[in-house]
Amino acid sequence: MKVIEHYDKASEPLISFEIIPPKRGGSVSEVFESLDKIVKYNPPFIDVTYHAAESYFEELPDGTIKRHIKRKRPGTIGLCAAMKHKYGVDPVPHLICEGFTKEETEDALIELNYLGIDNVLAIRGDAPDDNVPRYKNGTYNEYAIDLVSQIQDMNDGKYLEDIVNAHETNFCVGVAGYPEKHFEAPNLDRDIARLKEKVDAGGDYIVTQMFFDNDAYFRFVDKCREAGIEVPIVPGLKVLTRERHLNFLPKFFHLNIPKALSEEVIADPDNAQNIGIEWSTQQCIELLEGGAPGIHFYVMGDPTPALDVIDKLPLGATVKKK
Ligand code: FAD
Repeated sequence: MKVIEHYDKASEPLISFEIIPPKRGGSVSEVFESLDKIVKYNPPFIDVTYHAAESYFEELPDGTIKRHIKRKRPGTIGLCAAMKHKYGVDPVPHLICEGFTKEETEDALIELNYLGIDNVLAIRGDAPDDNVPRYKNGTYNEYAIDLVSQIQDMNDGKYLEDIVNAHETNFCVGVAGYPEKHFEAPNLDRDIARLKEKVDAGGDYIVTQMFFDNDAYFRFVDKCREAGIEVPIVPGLKVLTRERHLNFLPKFFHLNIPKALSEEVIADPDNAQNIGIEWSTQQCIELLEGGAPGIHFYVMGDPTPALDVIDKLPLGATVKKK
């Protein structure tokens, strides 16, 4: 079922999750261990991230340096198919512009369509370091809006080459939004104007970047509505569990950690996980009371902190543990 149908039909807030595929050489059973815990909470859908290739250097025994270019976390489509088959939950594979030609993207969409996967989150990705060769052959999508347009073209039966009587796909398309502004955008208003273009091109719903200050989310939603964006805007949350998150999360995700939270963690670093769970629980309560359509948890490795938060929320029967 499409994500947007889940939201349309929901009689209470939806709790969803995002996981990452294992590192190359890892085992799918690592992910199934997490999913075994997550599915007890009846998630309507689970996202699986996609990862562009990265370059890394290996020093060989003779002292020379060898450059490798690899996707560290392949397997998004296979994992989504396995999840759908094993758990009956709707998977939402992320597709990214970065590192994929339009031709490769079309092939991936054909595979997803054959697998009966109804949803895609269309994301730009971030530019790799200069060592990764980009787009040797073929054309490419530069911004997420270009990827959304490619998916909508296929939904209209338009493939990259003219094909007579081509089958129309029927993907629901999610896009990303940034309550604290995307780091490249000159200001929030300009970023929201770009987001509106992305939604108008076919984005059915928005999932936000993680944030720790609910005011940023509510301000963002108000501004989106003023700009004419009407689709659901789902808050994405991560539970802070370690003191080093105070530096790591702002650096990698371009967000602010409120002073009250950082001071509490610095004063009692061994208790960071409990502080993070309590903070996130209060965030969820306020977000849901403020009308958020659900909460999307960035689980990354271990889902336990997010599940601890959910256990503390006054949610209805559909989210309660099976
Ligand atoms: P875009 O919507 O393309 O926006 C990027 C920037 O360009 C913004 O500043 C925007 O204002 C600007 N812009 C947009 N359109 C135009 C235009 N036409 N001309 C000029 N400027 C424009 N990364 C991964 O690698 N894999 C993942 O699976 C993944 N999942 C994510 C899921 C979510 C919910 C979020 C919030 C992020 C995710 N990311 C992922 C990170 C994402 O790739 C980065 O945040 C990236 O920098 C931006 O992606 P985007 O889709 O928002 O880009």
